[in-house]
Amino acid sequence: MMQLFIPLNFLGFVYREIRGALANIERMFGLLKREPLIKDKPDASDSKLSLGELRFDSVSFSYDTRPILKDVSFTLLAGQKIAIVGDSGAGKSTIVKLLFRFYEVDEGSISLDGVNINHMTQNVLRQAIAIVPQDTVLFNDSLLENIRYGRPSASEEEIREAINMAHLSHFIESLPDGWNTAVGERGLKLSGGEKQRVAIARAILKGSPLLVFDEATSSLDSQSEQAILNALKEAARGHTSLVIAHRLSTIVDADQIIVLSQGRIVETGNHKSLLTNNGLYAKLWNIQN
Ligand code: ATP
Repeated sequence: MMQLFIPLNFLGFVYREIRGALANIERMFGLLKREPLIKDKPDASDSKLSLGELRFDSVSFSYDTRPILKDVSFTLLAGQKIAIVGDSGAGKSTIVKLLFRFYEVDEGSISLDGVNINHMTQNVLRQAIAIVPQDTVLFNDSLLENIRYGRPSASEEEIREAINMAHLSHFIESLPDGWNTAVGERGLKLSGGEKQRVAIARAILKGSPLLVFDEATSSLDSQSEQAILNALKEAARGHTSLVIAHRLSTIVDADQIIVLSQGRIVETGNHKSLLTNNGLYAKLWNIQN
């Protein structure tokens, strides 16, 4: 009897695993069949963008009925760096979600290289922007494959260049398996700062004209912060960049800083002029320093 118990128990386990996997596959096909909420217009432009020049023109937006952004306007010129700062919940990440067209604006417009984002294909829009998100999704694969994901057709030389620019080479050289090191489930074997630099290397490799950096809220030690700062500086070279900043020390070099409060722009300027203004930016700066 005991001799039968173990194989039967094992068969039961296999059966349950297969049933679970089939249910997941069914769910996945269900998702694939679902109509996208935002569709390309029939005459949407599919011309590739090259500058990443971004303009928000009197943009207002509500989640359901709750107003979040109110009359937000700014222009980010090609090659410049703009930073958006403000209290938690001010609407900073919502600006990025609207830029990616995850939601449609209620009023106003957003344009890239002079074309309203609603009038270009979503493919063109996604190709034009490389994002380093707050919480990077890493696959349970090697560092190399996680970086290559930014542009699967990239050559090894281009990948090495992105790694150098993201200030990851020292870290990778210190690993016995180098870039073949597995990052673990969701990148758990990496620190927060290393994960962000992998995401920066990935974004550099993608080669989009507009780079968006949504800074993680989690605190980093000053060495990791400096490494990220250097990586960002390299990445921003030759790119137009938009930084959603939580640590003001990362944006003192921005050409333009936009200060949001409850969804409205309350101040704009550079680091120096905003400190002189002695308004909300100066208050946030004093709290952090
Ligand atoms: P933080 O600095 O904490 O990341 P933030 O300035 O980026 O904040 P947002 O994430 O843009 O703020 O959120 C602005 C407001 O919108 C918040 O009050 C938030 O709770 C709300 N919000 C965000 N996403 C949604 C959503 N999908 N549905 C409803 N409300 C949302």
